Amino acid sequence: MRFLPVFLDVQSGVVLLVGEGDLARAKLRLLVSAGARVRWFATDGNHDLAGVDVDGARIEFAAGDPLVADLNGVVAIVCAGAGDVGTAMSARAKALGLPVNVMDDLEHSTFIFPAIVDRGDVVVAVGTGGTSPVVARRVRERIEALLPERIGELASFIGRWRKQIHNLIPEFALRRRFWERVVDGPIGALVLAGRRDEAESALKTIGDASAFAGRLASGEAQGSVTLVGAGPGDPDLLTVKALRALQDADAIFYDELVNPDILDRARRDAERIPVGRRVGKPGIGQDAVNRLLIEAARAGKRAVRLKGGDPFIFGRGGEEVEALRQANVVYSVIPGITAGLGAAAQFEVPLTFRREALRVTFLTAHKAKDAETVDWSTLTDVEMTIVVYMGMTAAPSVRAGLLAAGRSPKTPVGVFARATHDDAAAAIGTLAELPDLVEKIAGGPAILIIGDVVAHAAPARRKELSQLASLFQVAAE
Ligand code: SAH
Repeated sequence: MRFLPVFLDVQSGVVLLVGEGDLARAKLRLLVSAGARVRWFATDGNHDLAGVDVDGARIEFAAGDPLVADLNGVVAIVCAGAGDVGTAMSARAKALGLPVNVMDDLEHSTFIFPAIVDRGDVVVAVGTGGTSPVVARRVRERIEALLPERIGELASFIGRWRKQIHNLIPEFALRRRFWERVVDGPIGALVLAGRRDEAESALKTIGDASAFAGRLASGEAQGSVTLVGAGPGDPDLLTVKALRALQDADAIFYDELVNPDILDRARRDAERIPVGRRVGKPGIGQDAVNRLLIEAARAGKRAVRLKGGDPFIFGRGGEEVEALRQANVVYSVIPGITAGLGAAAQFEVPLTFRREALRVTFLTAHKAKDAETVDWSTLTDVEMTIVVYMGMTAAPSVRAGLLAAGRSPKTPVGVFARATHDDAAAAIGTLAELPDLVEKIAGGPAILIIGDVVAHAAPARRKELSQLASLFQVAAE
C-alpha cells in the first residue's frame, strides 16, 4: 500500500487548482461540492464556468504564474489538464511538503483521488493505488449496491447522540456495544426506514443505557466465546456470520494454520493470540486454550476461537464447548466449510453420487499408529466415500488397512493439498498408488479421498482425456 486512505479537511484552507479545460472543471466541481475554497489558476487564462454546475462564490480566479504564487494557507495542490506546469508545480509542492495530485501522473503525485461513495456522513473511498480507476469504479458500484440508502442518516443520528451517551457510559467497550445494539437493532432499522422521529423516541425511552449495552450486575460487560470455522483457506469461503463475529471480536485466538488473509478481515484493533499447532511445533495445549478462552470471556471480552475448516470436524471444538459449559460462559458455534468439502468442490469430486456412492465417512489417521487402530473392515463398502484427514504420513498404513480388509487396489483415490489456497494441488490415482501420490504432492495440509467418485474429479477427467488423446495419436501414427 503506497497510498494510505485518509480524509482531508478541505475546509481548513485553500485548495490550489492548476489547469484548464474539462479536466480542470471536473476537479473544480468535485472540490467545491466537498466544501473546499478553490484558488484556480487557469493555464489557458479561460475561467469561463458556463455550463458547469458549481458554486462560483467558493472559487477565487487567480491570475499570474502558479509556480511563484503565494502558497500560504494552501492545504493541497491539484493539477488537472495542466501539462508541463503540473510537473513543475509538483516539484514545488514536494519541496514544500504540500500534498499534490497531478492527474493521471502517479510519479508526480503525493496523493490520489479515490472513487467515492457519498452518503452524507458516510463516505467510502476506494483506491487501487492509482493502477486502475476502472477497477475502483467497479468496486464502488458494488459497495453502492450493498449499503442501505440511508446509511448516512444513521451515522448522523448517532453523531447527534454521541456526546450524551459518552457521558452516560464512560467505559469504551460498553459504549461500543451500546451503539452496536442501536445500529443492529430496531432503532437502527427505524432510521434506515426513514422513521427518524420514532427512532429518536425509542432511544429516549432507554432507561439504563449501560444495561441496554449488556452490563452485568457486577458492572462488567458480558463476555462470550464464539467458536468460528474459518473454512479451508479461501477467505471468500467464510460464512457471513463468521465474518461478522470476526468484525465484532475483541480477542481472536487462532490456529496458525488459519490463512493470514482471513485474519486480515477481522476488526483491526482486535487482539490476536496464536494458540494452535504450527507445522512441526506443538501448540500450547488444549487445557491452556480452554483456560484462555474462559479468562477472556470473564474479563468481558468477546472472544473468537478461530479454527481451520469446521470447529466440530477434527477441530477439538467439542472439548472447548465442554469446558465453556462447565465454566458457565456464554458461547456459540459458527460452522465452517470443512477441508473435505472445500477440496471436493474445488476439484469436483461429488462425495455422493446416485447409485455409486451413498455414504461418506470422515476419518483421521494422524499417525501410522492411529491408522492401525482403525477398523478398516467397516470401510470396505464400495458405495462409501472415505475422506481422510491428517492422513499424509499414514498413507501406507491406510492403503495396507483397506487392502487387507478387501477393498480393491483399483479403487480411485485422490490426494488434495492446500485446497482452496492459491497453491492448491491434486494427485489422482488408485489405492495401490496412494503412497506415491502423497509423495507427488509437495507438502500439506492435505486430505485423501477414497472411493469410486474420485474418478469424476476434474483432474481425473483431464488425465483420462490426455491419455485418450495420446492413444489416438499412437493409433494415428
Ligand atoms: N477442522 C478442520 C480439520 C482440522 S485437522 C476442518 O474441518 O477442515 C487438520 C487437517 O485438515 C489437515 O491435516 C488436513 O488433512 C486437513 N486440511 C486442513 N486444511 C486443508 C486444506 N486447505 N486442504 C486440504 N486439507 C486440509
